[in-house]
Amino acid sequence: MLNEIERKIKDEISDNPVFLISRLKDKEDIVLTFDQSSPWVSTILSSITAEYEPEEMIEPILNVEITLKRDSNNTFGEYLVAHGSVTGQYMASCVKCLDDAKQEFSSEFTGAYVHSRYENDPEYEEVDEIYIDEKVCDLYFHDRGKANLSELITEATVLAINPYPSCKSECKGLCGQCGENKNHVDCGHH
Ligand SMILES: [Zn+2]
Ligand SMILES: [Zn+2]
Repeated sequence: MLNEIERKIKDEISDNPVFLISRLKDKEDIVLTFDQSSPWVSTILSSITAEYEPEEMIEPILNVEITLKRDSNNTFGEYLVAHGSVTGQYMASCVKCLDDAKQEFSSEFTGAYVHSRYENDPEYEEVDEIYIDEKVCDLYFHDRGKANLSELITEATVLAINPYPSCKSECKGLCGQCGENKNHVDCGHH
């Protein structure tokens, strides 16, 4: 159960993924869940479903579970650790036969937001992971205490989905000669 502060933070982040990390209690985990009813989660989902219009409609889903913790150390000052999972489904177009290909995905992520001054620090220029809070975390930056969760969730979602969706593992594809879908028609060509 969420307490009142957690509920308030959840409501705010649900509307707007940019929030002040100082609002979180120091060193205390807070677990939040979001889905496509949040406008920014819905935007991420639309960006992966692109403009494909399936024959069979399924409800596109993106569920986000995220644990947030604010902490600080001597190296980075105040930082935010965010770990959790993205799971969902959507309809894509099979890369071989162009039929509907229902896609389900699930993936975990761990990210850390450190102050944006490190973004221009030559030492961190080539770095996209840091070891912090006893974890290897993907590196993100907060802007004077404001973290944007949409960046992290977008990247986690893009990495979770299959870039080459397939309707089934043994999809026969389209005929190179007549263009028929070989899953449905035996056109006799090879
Ligand atoms: Zn196919
Ligand atoms: Zn053919």
